[in-house]
Amino acid sequence: MKMNPIQMVDLKSQYLRIKPEIDAAIQHVLDSTAFIQGAPVKEFEESLSQYTGNKYVISCGNGTDALTAALMALEIGPGDEVVTTPFTFIATVEAIALVGAKPVFVDVCEETFTLDVNRLESAITPKTKAIIPVHLYGQCADMEPILNIANQHNIRVIEDACQAIGTEYHFADGSVKQAGTMGTVGCLSFFPSKNLGCFGDGGALMTNDADLAGKLRSICRHGSSERYHHERIGLNSRLDTLQAAILTVKLDHLQEYITARKEAATYYHAALSDLDWLSLPASSPYSTHTYHQFTVRVKNGRRDALKQHLADKGIPSAIYYPVPAHLQPAYASLNHHKGDFPMAEQLCEEVLSLPMHTELTKEQLDYICHTIKNFPL
Ligand SMILES: *Cc1c(COP(=O)(O)O)cnc(C)c1O
Repeated sequence: MKMNPIQMVDLKSQYLRIKPEIDAAIQHVLDSTAFIQGAPVKEFEESLSQYTGNKYVISCGNGTDALTAALMALEIGPGDEVVTTPFTFIATVEAIALVGAKPVFVDVCEETFTLDVNRLESAITPKTKAIIPVHLYGQCADMEPILNIANQHNIRVIEDACQAIGTEYHFADGSVKQAGTMGTVGCLSFFPSKNLGCFGDGGALMTNDADLAGKLRSICRHGSSERYHHERIGLNSRLDTLQAAILTVKLDHLQEYITARKEAATYYHAALSDLDWLSLPASSPYSTHTYHQFTVRVKNGRRDALKQHLADKGIPSAIYYPVPAHLQPAYASLNHHKGDFPMAEQLCEEVLSLPMHTELTKEQLDYICHTIKNFPL
């Protein structure tokens, strides 16, 4: 029997596995025609609140809106600075720029690709209003020291947890918290390829602060808590009822999805750890890894050649991200140059994400690993 073609993400097979449940949930929404703010939206928010342990969950249109709404609710705007890393999906930086604040970058650590805590304090100025740590590829940034530094300087922490739903952070006192539940507010994306993905765009905000939750909800609903009365300038950012119904079904499977990803990662680790020209995702002492991506670093300047070698054998791979935020033309006004954030720049040259999803078979993993091992250096 021929092996199924390998994909970066296999949404079709994942859907087919739970097709009856999903189809019934969709049909239910079609029958109700309550396409905006129907009952499944509240139901999903409650399920997510239970899953994450956050008191308040406010669903919204997508992860970028979640970040933007968080900054708006904290009244961050022109004249303010927000610290984040240049090695992230552009949405993190875009949200800061959209509210008129200035993105201030801190380079990332070599091991986890997340914000380098040792460089954080020197980036903080009297204008700093918030830090946005990014839990990249499914691993938490080192939140305990980040939260401590933020507290000392009385600045807020907005977690970009778009890639890390279900990832657990371990504090020194033994307590464990999920990504997106540790800061002032946590942001999630349900883009189809995320670990919990819907069938279009979707996102959510999470907080334990009642006051902030009210503001966030109002902002995502045109700055309104009572229909046609607008207390602030807001956004039109809602999770469609259809997406909420789909997400409620999929949230019940999230733990299985995470397990499947971890199993694929274990397979990669076992098969590839002895290649000295490849560095595999490191496990950190403080965070679990939910493998939104399985991202390796290819040494000796051979990343693009490995990518081509894999493509020649029918194996897709991807570069997240080829250009760091500080060198993107859209942010040229920040006046950064090559060399400003060397770790982020080096990673952009070396990283390669291998196929990672919930439907990878042993046969496919074996073929991928075999092909990598046969890469002529
Ligand atoms: C996906 C993602 C976002 C944005 O989410 P959308 O739902 O696509 O708007 C933001 N930050 C990170 C790190 C992401 O991976």
